[in-house]
Amino acid sequence: MAAPGAAPAYRRILLKVSGEALAGDQGYGIGPDVIGRIAEEIAEVVRLGVEVAVVIGGGNIFRGIAASAGGMDRATGDYMGMLATVINALALQDMLEKKGVDTRVMTAIRMEELAEPYIRRRAVRHLEKGRMVIFAGGTGNPYFSTDTAAVLRALEIEAKVLLKATNVDGVYTADPKKDPTATFLGELSFRDALVNGYAVMDANAFGLCKENRLPIVVFNINQPGATARVLAGERVGTIVQ
Ligand code: UDP
Repeated sequence: MAAPGAAPAYRRILLKVSGEALAGDQGYGIGPDVIGRIAEEIAEVVRLGVEVAVVIGGGNIFRGIAASAGGMDRATGDYMGMLATVINALALQDMLEKKGVDTRVMTAIRMEELAEPYIRRRAVRHLEKGRMVIFAGGTGNPYFSTDTAAVLRALEIEAKVLLKATNVDGVYTADPKKDPTATFLGELSFRDALVNGYAVMDANAFGLCKENRLPIVVFNINQPGATARVLAGERVGTIVQ
């Protein structure tokens, strides 16, 4: 946890939470304990006075590409995937509000009975007022991912860093679950990541980050207090810049 009273290193952040991170050990759907823990991590950061926006994934419920491999029309599958992110967003909002964090869900696809439509200036205003914002519905377009949505929204709201919450500690030279020689990388440049083909995020999203020099911190959200430590400027996970 950050030292009490220490000023956070970043004023406004974009946190990408994948659907997988919400599933926990059950591997699909929403694990109630897991989402509660993630909400607590986020609440802790909001209490530090950091403006927090979250882009939420949907892969724990539905992935368009997997459905299209099974014969479904790709765009239809992708729209279903985008709807899955809205389910996750509402679950996370519920948990955050129970912890006293004022939260707004904004969707890239209009569904005004349950969330606000995404309007950039309004999102920024919420953040300035200390409200947490959850961006759901990805980019609103099929053939994209929520990683791309995360970079896009981070750039739009002028976040200083993109925090990519995962179930692993950061970037390794190979998959540590499969290759015992895999070594952990604490820091790397966009160029190194690209040349060596290290999996940081999908290629579209990564390209957008690189082009706009938006630093990415990949870290393990299951480590208690990790999000707050990244914000306090501690070396946690892997920084790509
Ligand atoms: N998706 C999409 N456009 C977007 C974002 C997401 O079509 O801009 C769809 C896509 O089918 C994807 C699914 O939503 O598989 C869930 O998002 P993603 O796989 O990025 O979630 P995560 O891997 O972060 O859980």
